[in-house]
Amino acid sequence: MQKPICQANPGPSWSRLLIWGICFLPQLTGAQNSVDPAYQPANTLAETLPETLSKINTRLEADLAALPKPNKKFLAKEYKERADSLKSELLQGSFLMDDRWNPWFQNILEEILRHNPDVAARDITLLLSRYESPNARCVGEGTLVFNIGLLPFLENESQVAFILCHELAHYHNNHGNQALHQYINTLYSPEMQKQLKEISRGTYNKTERALELMKGMAYNGRRHSRFKESEADSLGFVFFSRTGYQLKEAVGALQILDSIDKSHWPRIPYDSLFQSKGFPFQNSWLEQKGLGGGFSTQATQPSSSTEFNEDSLKTHPDCPERIKLTQAQVEALGKDTGKAFLQDETQFHTMQQKTPYELVEGLYQTGHYGRSLFRALVMLTKKRDDAYLNAMVVKNLYEICQYQRNHRMRHVVDLPDPEYSAEYNRFLKFINQFRTSEFQQLTYHFYLERWEKYKHTEDFMFAAVLATSLKPENPDFQSRLDEYLTTYPKGKYLDHIKAMKD
Ligand SMILES: [Zn+2]
Repeated sequence: MQKPICQANPGPSWSRLLIWGICFLPQLTGAQNSVDPAYQPANTLAETLPETLSKINTRLEADLAALPKPNKKFLAKEYKERADSLKSELLQGSFLMDDRWNPWFQNILEEILRHNPDVAARDITLLLSRYESPNARCVGEGTLVFNIGLLPFLENESQVAFILCHELAHYHNNHGNQALHQYINTLYSPEMQKQLKEISRGTYNKTERALELMKGMAYNGRRHSRFKESEADSLGFVFFSRTGYQLKEAVGALQILDSIDKSHWPRIPYDSLFQSKGFPFQNSWLEQKGLGGGFSTQATQPSSSTEFNEDSLKTHPDCPERIKLTQAQVEALGKDTGKAFLQDETQFHTMQQKTPYELVEGLYQTGHYGRSLFRALVMLTKKRDDAYLNAMVVKNLYEICQYQRNHRMRHVVDLPDPEYSAEYNRFLKFINQFRTSEFQQLTYHFYLERWEKYKHTEDFMFAAVLATSLKPENPDFQSRLDEYLTTYPKGKYLDHIKAMKD
């Protein structure tokens, strides 16, 4: 049974929390020592999904009805696109809907709302996304999105709470819609239209000139939270200061956001990970020309925010100024009697440890196979014997193989880019060098080397079916497929396996 992500009528959360703390955590800890060590990703579909979708629709209708006359048609289009994009994210499983995750965040939101009755609690839906970008956003119509990619960077519950307060302030002051209206009204203003017409009548550099004209005013639903940042900090802090959380952690959160780009990737040991009897590792795979020493470069270069699909919060240029202003607010209040944690601290750390797994899973589920593979390999540097990660490497390699065979690898694997971190580029150079036949060998033998060790897990057994299917003449394919169907007659990959059988 799934709990609703957002309860329109928040009940007493602390009793639920107590049940959670006593009953659930020992199970989680126990699971780590059980026979099957494969990681089980969080659920992304809940019975409450229709309810969440209908809430978005209802809100959209109300918003459309309240639009001002000028540019109404264009505004309505933006509002609809925003709602559609959120709905498709929900339907493709981008958000966690899982009792091991959501209640902990929902309880924070309820603590904030309980102490801030002037915020329209019934409008707010908190979604927990699997996006890797260390960020949170306020969609503008009441939905707040917290990317779990942010979680490993934070130190405590109070910091999570302050970030939610900041997003809630964006909503309360209607920043998202203000940014949208400002954009549409500028774009469709008589002056702007006149200038755009002049450019289009011209004969040269039309695109550049149009872009130059629109520079700085581009609206992007994912970026509008950059609008009025200090105001959101300041009001967010007021919300935050009424809760039981530790006030100085608002500054702590901002300081962390300011330094997020300084994180590092470990160096992936391709030679040992891809060593196999059947397809021995060749040192030449690490010595390609034109890499500009890419493989020998120490992977100490900071990971760039451009590696993430969205902007990182770091890209706010005014972070040091925001820290100073928030610090002044903390000092003005004098005493700081709140707590860093109001809920079980263990669960916070457990979720932080699970986050990298969820990011690998989320990237895989949304077809970002190259990035998912990269993160799985990064994790394998420290967790060599992790069944889930080893299966994930095979699953991602298999998908990339399919795309490569159809000359569409670019859709799922990036090309190296100077904007990316050294280690991610090193990965991209490694993975982009293989011909289709070599890629299939690499995948097949990665699986074969590990089969005996991990064949007791469903994930790896599914990975085995995929890997053996790359060599149809190989009799292993049929036996792996039959083994899966016999062992997991109701398995989670059943549909996929059946489709491969036909
Ligand atoms: Zn913001």
